[in-house]
Amino acid sequence: MFDRKAQLLKPKELKRLQLLKLRKTVRHAYRNVPLVRRRFGEANVKPESIRTLEDVQKIPFTVKTDLRDNYPLGILAVPQTRLYCLHASSGTTGKPIIMAYTRGDLERWSRLMGRTFDVAGVRKGDIVQNMFGYGLFTGGLGFHYGARAVGATVIPTSTGNTKRQLMLMKDLRSSVAASTPSYMVYLCEASRVEGYEPKRDFSLKIGLFGAEPWSEEARKRIEDVFGLRAHDCYGMSELYGPGVGIECENRNGLHVWSDEFLVETINPDTGEVLEPGKEGELVFTMLSREAMPLLRYRTRDLSRVFEEECECGRYHPRIQRIKGRSDDMLIVGGVNVFPSQVEHVLMNIPSLGDQYQIIVSHRELAQLAVKAETSADKLNDPALLKEIQSDLFAVLGIRAEV
Ligand code: ADP
Ligand code: ZN
Repeated sequence: MFDRKAQLLKPKELKRLQLLKLRKTVRHAYRNVPLVRRRFGEANVKPESIRTLEDVQKIPFTVKTDLRDNYPLGILAVPQTRLYCLHASSGTTGKPIIMAYTRGDLERWSRLMGRTFDVAGVRKGDIVQNMFGYGLFTGGLGFHYGARAVGATVIPTSTGNTKRQLMLMKDLRSSVAASTPSYMVYLCEASRVEGYEPKRDFSLKIGLFGAEPWSEEARKRIEDVFGLRAHDCYGMSELYGPGVGIECENRNGLHVWSDEFLVETINPDTGEVLEPGKEGELVFTMLSREAMPLLRYRTRDLSRVFEEECECGRYHPRIQRIKGRSDDMLIVGGVNVFPSQVEHVLMNIPSLGDQYQIIVSHRELAQLAVKAETSADKLNDPALLKEIQSDLFAVLGIRAEV
């Protein structure tokens, strides 16, 4: 078992570690991040006020716009020379939000992803076809690091190029598929169109899917077509990337690695902390992040937390598969899209009117379309269409039909 000791921590030891790390992280964030110091001041809290795990509730929330407002690196808690890597994710308007990692952060993230692969049953000798996008998005490299951590072979095919994807899947006998669930559902159909008989031609045993919500129906379809066992993985760029939660063999929720993340649920309207088992917005406190120690980060994801021991022997609490979001963020093929980003682009093009419509369809591949309004003489102007399309692409990172 990879990182066995951490995976099998008993509740008492887990709580002791959590408190130790929480107090250290709070001191670190308070000392080095002006925003944290200011928020603590406003709430009349000091690092010394955090004496028990429950005291985490005294800490003010951090939200996505805090990252945007401090673009690019205003909430860094270490000198920039200590950074090993940067990633970016969509913000709520034109600018992305930037994620920073020290060497220690990258090692921790790799270890969390290693556990994630391990829980899903991936071992040395497995061949992992990583169909998450490599680049600024944390999916590609995150899953890459995880495969490396458990000693599996990784094929970094990244997204798209379906024909080549399927050819390599067959010829290299990939045993593990990592991708967005929507792309895997698309491959169910595409592989038949390309003349493959999935169960006969492919060697997939395990699937790791995440980065967007997906239904039990989608899971069943993927499993039926490919004859693999599909695990749901949860994460987000702000919390390293993928690797926050993973379904074990019992698939009764996703274990959250609670020696690295304290998880709470709150009422999204009032901010009130909810009891375990109640549905609400997930809030995470990172327990050892060096570069960007986010405290009580509001995810906007709706779920519930179960603290009972799981039959697998792990005491890391479980979260229910994500039900939806408490904001208006859309996820199109794993890519986050905020209506405000689209609006921001359209409002900056003078010949467009104020009204617009965003259409997300999930036929075959997930697709995004935008309807905008303009004067009659501009209606079929190819230059205008092109301008909108390329501005949208620049901000969203995905193509939208206009
Ligand atoms: P990533 O897409 O790599 O997980 P992002 O930061 O781009 O990271 O997006 C994070 C958001 O994606 C989460 O807040 C959540 O809404 C969604 N998400 C990630 N994993 C899942 C999952 N397994 N199920 C449902 N939603 C998910
Ligand atoms: Zn379990």
